Amino acid sequence: MRLTKFTDLALRAVMRLAAAGPAESLTTREVAAAMAVPQAHMAKAITRLTHLGVVEARRGRGGGLEVTALGRRASVGWLVRELEGEEEVVSCDGDPPCPLRAACRLREALREAQQAFYATLDPLTVGDLVASPTGPVLVGLRAPRSE
Ligand code: SF4
Repeated sequence: MRLTKFTDLALRAVMRLAAAGPAESLTTREVAAAMAVPQAHMAKAITRLTHLGVVEARRGRGGGLEVTALGRRASVGWLVRELEGEEEVVSCDGDPPCPLRAACRLREALREAQQAFYATLDPLTVGDLVASPTGPVLVGLRAPRSE
């Protein structure tokens, strides 16, 4: 099982924001730079997190991104399911479709394995992900210095 790059970026963003203290205000540019990813890609991931109610943008002076209370309590399994969508781990209905797909026991086993993967993540919350040692490391991340 391999997560999409989009899901990985969104998880990195939500972890960085969840690790922020009350006085720390971060922009999309800063989160992207700290995670060493393109700002445009990070912006798309943060937009999705906002639509899910996991992150919100404060406006005005002192504005910036923050994880909502719901986001902090959110199950990682739920969040990964939302980000990954309905994709199966194999492309049985691709072009051309697999000739076995109407009666394939492997497909069913892979679906069950995928659900087991998510179920392992269900008890974890976003807040759990930023407990020590991860949280302090996230807070210490800085954008790579340009030469
Ligand atoms: S063999 Fe089964 S799991 Fe693999 S692509 Fe075909 S239908 Fe899907």
